[in-house]
Amino acid sequence: MRTTPLPPQDPRLRVHEPARQSNRQPTRWQRWFAVGVAAAIIAISLALDIGAIFVVPLVFVLVVPFEKLFPRHKKPFRRPQLGTDIGYALAGGALNAVSVFFAVIVGALSLAWLPGLAVRPLVSLLPSAMVPIAGILLFDAVIYWTHRWYHEVPFLWRFHSIHHSTEDLDWISGFRNHPLDGTLIAPAFFFLLAAGFSAEFTGALAVIQIVFGLFLHANVKWRLRPLHKVLITPEFHHWHHANEPGAINSNYSVFLPAWDLLFGTYFMPKDRRPTVYGVSEPVPAGMLGQLKYPLRGMRNPLRVVRHPIRSTKAGLRFVFKALLPDMVRSVRRPRRPSHSEGLDEGAIWATMQTS
Ligand SMILES: [Zn+2]
Ligand SMILES: [Zn+2]
Repeated sequence: MRTTPLPPQDPRLRVHEPARQSNRQPTRWQRWFAVGVAAAIIAISLALDIGAIFVVPLVFVLVVPFEKLFPRHKKPFRRPQLGTDIGYALAGGALNAVSVFFAVIVGALSLAWLPGLAVRPLVSLLPSAMVPIAGILLFDAVIYWTHRWYHEVPFLWRFHSIHHSTEDLDWISGFRNHPLDGTLIAPAFFFLLAAGFSAEFTGALAVIQIVFGLFLHANVKWRLRPLHKVLITPEFHHWHHANEPGAINSNYSVFLPAWDLLFGTYFMPKDRRPTVYGVSEPVPAGMLGQLKYPLRGMRNPLRVVRHPIRSTKAGLRFVFKALLPDMVRSVRRPRRPSHSEGLDEGAIWATMQTS
């Protein structure tokens, strides 16, 4: 695995939880078992929706010609872990079903629908032409904060780190998502529905965000500079994935960079481009290992059936003693030093952190 030496940082900023390193290599049988389970998940997915088999060739035809004509990084088509990412694309049916199940639970428990109900009277006063604009702004604002917490709260990062573990951003890498990471979009969904936006509008935004997100990972070199502060671009999202000084914990918006500019996480240096992607922790290379990776050290969830009161108490203790304090720490952490595109913010930030 490629890793970049990072400068020592303020622990409040560098909050990715280091995983315990294991030197034990899987045996041949364990590898075959992992391949077998991944194949079974793909088979179940295709049985649920055989149409998913056309997704990979469709995205290939739509994106790969542009990657060949305008490559950002020159690299062979058969790059490491290509099979893992194709596996995620083919297993979408089963993985998305798990995502939806947990997204409903997380959306309800997040209580994002409470502020949604609070703004509902204001939304109802908006002229109809303004409603979609307000919807996009609010959707993006809620996703900005959820996405930020999925990076800066160690427990949530466990799940989102799978998406970020790819070291090659291209046509297929956007499919790599842990099914529990699919809960990231749930609070925004519940917020908008409670605020009075229709299920069709909210669903359309969620679908656009997911499809748009796939193309943001493409290995194309376009910078699209005039759009930089208006709409997010591949350059913006490639910096979000960069494992380089200054780039970590930046560019969280999914539609409008306005939220990163406002909350001090915008990172788009003019004089360099993202080159190294991935995470600085030992995420397994295969799909089964990645599905298990965030669950390390967790107790059997069925414990809640045997010990409901003890489990509820433990859950509440976790929320109030770990989750919420980590979220507050993320909100209160220092802003980036400058929003100027002309400065190498990475260098300035790294200097500030080491001094
Ligand atoms: Zn992210
Ligand atoms: Zn991404």
